[in-house]
Amino acid sequence: MTRKHVVVVGAGFSGVAAATAIARSKRARVTLIGRDGFGRGLAYGTKDPSHLLNVRASNMSARADKADDFALWLHSKTGKDPGVFATRSRYGDYVQSTLKQAQRAAMLSGGLKCLEGDAVSCRAGSGWWNIELASGRGIEANGVVLALGNPPVSIPVVFSDASVPLVDPWDAKAMQRIGKGDVLLLGAGLTMIDVALSLAARPRIQTIYALSRRGQTPRVHLDPPSPPPSTPLELPPNLSDALHLFRREVRAMSERGEPWQLAVDRMRGATPALWGGLSVEQQRRFLRHLRVWWDVHRHRAAPEIFSRAQDLQNSGKLRVLAGEVVSAQKVGRHYEVFHRQRGGRARHRLEVAAVVNCTGANLDLTRSPDPLVQQMLAEGLARTHATGLGFDLDENARVLDARGQTQGSLYAIGPITAGAFWESTAVPEIRARAAAISALI
Ligand SMILES: Cc1cc2nc3c(=O)[nH]c(=O)nc-3n(C[C@H](O)[C@H](O)[C@H](O)COP(=O)(O)OP(=O)(O)OC[C@H]3O[C@@H](n4cnc5c(N)ncnc54)[C@H](O)[C@@H]3O)c2cc1C
Repeated sequence: MTRKHVVVVGAGFSGVAAATAIARSKRARVTLIGRDGFGRGLAYGTKDPSHLLNVRASNMSARADKADDFALWLHSKTGKDPGVFATRSRYGDYVQSTLKQAQRAAMLSGGLKCLEGDAVSCRAGSGWWNIELASGRGIEANGVVLALGNPPVSIPVVFSDASVPLVDPWDAKAMQRIGKGDVLLLGAGLTMIDVALSLAARPRIQTIYALSRRGQTPRVHLDPPSPPPSTPLELPPNLSDALHLFRREVRAMSERGEPWQLAVDRMRGATPALWGGLSVEQQRRFLRHLRVWWDVHRHRAAPEIFSRAQDLQNSGKLRVLAGEVVSAQKVGRHYEVFHRQRGGRARHRLEVAAVVNCTGANLDLTRSPDPLVQQMLAEGLARTHATGLGFDLDENARVLDARGQTQGSLYAIGPITAGAFWESTAVPEIRARAAAISALI
């Protein structure tokens, strides 16, 4: 190999952001491997126009070096202003266009090649990596970026034991097949809202139940938006102290007439450092007790989506329940599900046409069905993070092996880096990480 070659595995948003950043840097030629298309991934493959981004166009650039890239692109296509929440499908068009643009620009500097395939193994040679595809083809590279994305959701045992199938909310055909009756959605986050809005538009769907342990649903973005906060909120590297100071600051802001959303936004830049400064025990405590509160305040819904979800709740079409499922079974063409409400002992019965799993990606990679992940863990090329969220990485996103050592240019990006950085799934963090990896290649 005469010129550096980097392979990026996975071609959702993270893979495209990493591949295009590296290609633009002209440091290496890049091969982007995708098993199911290039640029849309799980989030931006939906065609449903009711599925909006949960971040304004002004902060959705795919490029760390060009903050208004998406806003300008959107304006050129639709005339819409940077404050809008565009459809996720439109955003997928944009990501694909950034890929095409980077491919054209890289033609003279070594190239950015898209290769359809399923990477099944990654092994180290001396100074290079060998990536093997399911087809048997091998590819050599000086560096690898794992952009494997959102692992599949896990199926709660109460459903698997009873052989009650759960519908994948991103499987459009399975969603279409849901018959007449009530529907139960497991989980109450942004995915639940998307699914509830889609189902509510169908006349044969009756009541939509959403069930999660605490019944907390996403809060709403400020409308109109306020300018980005100028003073960052820095918190001490101890969970209890940080929480105490954060609450005090929210109270003080509220007395000044400032909305709580700004407090969350003010700590955004400092979150990875705060997370990294916590002990593993404190990180686990956060996940156990605070995660749900963090998620609903940090991952907020677009105002339009929020108010439509509120309308559904006010009309009784959507009922959000706090509790857990205790049993499930098939009864004729429907499913009988018993759940216990939070804090109560009584069992409540639902009879539903389908149960949709909106609980989100399971980041415990020991349970990943991806042969590449299993091979890397089994051969000690990677290990899972102590919190159970994704791979263990150093502060530069280099994958640590079973002994905790980095191994040349092997990086990870996207949701599988949640244990290492916590903030790892939204576009602003992914594009910054892509630029940082590209600078290290
Ligand atoms: C429904 C939803 C809505 C979101 N909305 C927003 C938003 O509005 N704003 C925002 O900032 N963020 C949003 N996010 C978060 C963020 O943008 C996504 O998590 C992001 O798309 C992550 O991209 P990814 O490439 O890491 O993962 P994925 O989209 O999961 O893509 C990974 C790709 O890699 C492929 N792959 C995996 N393993 C292999 C292999 N071994 N070989 C070949 N290919 C492989 C997969 O098949 C997949 O195509 C949203 C996320 C979701 C799920």
